[in-house]
Amino acid sequence: MQENNGVMRSCSFCGRSEREAIVLIPSNDGKSYICDSCISVCAEFLEENFAPEVEPDYDFDIESLTLETLPKPKDIKAMLDEHVIGQDGAKLALSVAVYNHYKRILSLEESDDGKKRKNKGEACRDDVEIQKSNVLLLGPTGVGKTYIAQTLAKSFKVPFAIADATTLTEAGYVGEDVENILLRLIQAANFDVELAEKGIIYIDEIDKISRKGENRSITRDVSGEGVQQALLKILEGTVANVPPKGGRKHPNQDFIQINTKNILFICGGAFDGIESIIEARRGTTQIGFGGEEKRSRERVEKGVYKDVEAHDVVKYGIIPELVGRLPIIVALDNLDEEALVRIIKEPKGALYKQYQKLFSLDGIELVIEEEAFRAIAHLAIERKTGARGLRSIVEGVMMKPMFELPSEPDVERVVVTAAFVRGEEPITVIRRKSDEARDA
Ligand code: ADP
Repeated sequence: MQENNGVMRSCSFCGRSEREAIVLIPSNDGKSYICDSCISVCAEFLEENFAPEVEPDYDFDIESLTLETLPKPKDIKAMLDEHVIGQDGAKLALSVAVYNHYKRILSLEESDDGKKRKNKGEACRDDVEIQKSNVLLLGPTGVGKTYIAQTLAKSFKVPFAIADATTLTEAGYVGEDVENILLRLIQAANFDVELAEKGIIYIDEIDKISRKGENRSITRDVSGEGVQQALLKILEGTVANVPPKGGRKHPNQDFIQINTKNILFICGGAFDGIESIIEARRGTTQIGFGGEEKRSRERVEKGVYKDVEAHDVVKYGIIPELVGRLPIIVALDNLDEEALVRIIKEPKGALYKQYQKLFSLDGIELVIEEEAFRAIAHLAIERKTGARGLRSIVEGVMMKPMFELPSEPDVERVVVTAAFVRGEEPITVIRRKSDEARDA
């Protein structure tokens, strides 16, 4: 450490001189400094107060798992249950899919090692190639499709990337090349390509690139069937050349080569209107059953696509080859009021827990009454945003108290009532000294 024109530099925060500090980091203008000790204090403060709470722990780490220690589907589902409310069918199907996926990868790695299976006389079984099972999730917006995929990736400590199918185009057209999805995965893996090759990619809005039967036009097809063909290639497993900086491929560029055969693809989409395809199929097979029409209508109203089959997805406009690469098709449920209330309260890192923590940092206890939870859930249902809208609703409801209460003295507890959520009454504030409720 050097003295500056004979003047000893010191930390602008604690005053430690450069002799006392291990390191002094200057500001951009070189006029002030921060020492290692103050940096540690700041890091601790940030960690304690601003670390995202929703981060799932790394329950299972793919790097250290073996065929023996690979968690069983029930363990994977139990982990998902801690974060994702409801959606049992999807959680079950994905637990099995992910279990089989990593079992397949680990068995390939272990047989590559050549040691474990050498003398087992299992040549016949070794010849059987287990194919990858990508997954298609159907369900309205905000019901947990992305969240389940993301939670799985975090729990297995594998890189995860989200892509929006609507932004993709065939190479040569304006838009994003399909390879850019892979680049995002490689970036998520910090350019560890081997790790990226075991990652999970979630492709959203896959239904929006369906080919549109008679309405098909040349422009539409650019983002439709051509993109589906390009996706098909990476879904079925290929060695792709990815431009390291994204954008278009350029002949003089060095490419990153990535093999997609062990990447798990989870595709999701709302598939609006697929009910009528399901209904039509079931209608023809169930002619004569008077109640069927009513039941179908109920299904449409509920938005439940429980009976969906691969054939329906093909009819909707996804090419059969691509549907063939998505052998697991699962429909997610609409989230009802009860599910939404549980989502606000229960998961690890639930919204309620986050807001309670925020208030507790000001020494205030936050209580949201049961009826208030229902009122919040009701607003989310009205907005048709599923659980996605919950945060902004709670944020809106809590904005005024969060603005006012930190400057008010002696606040011990605030109680959110349904009437407050609906804007009919002010929030209830209980103060330390008087213990009297009054309006904020
Ligand atoms: P989509 O189905 O449109 O992919 P997301 O998975 O992105 O919806 O959901 C948006 C957010 O809503 C998630 O980040 C998560 O916080 C919350 N969420 C949605 N569904 C659930 C659920 N079933 N359980 C817990 N949280 C959920």
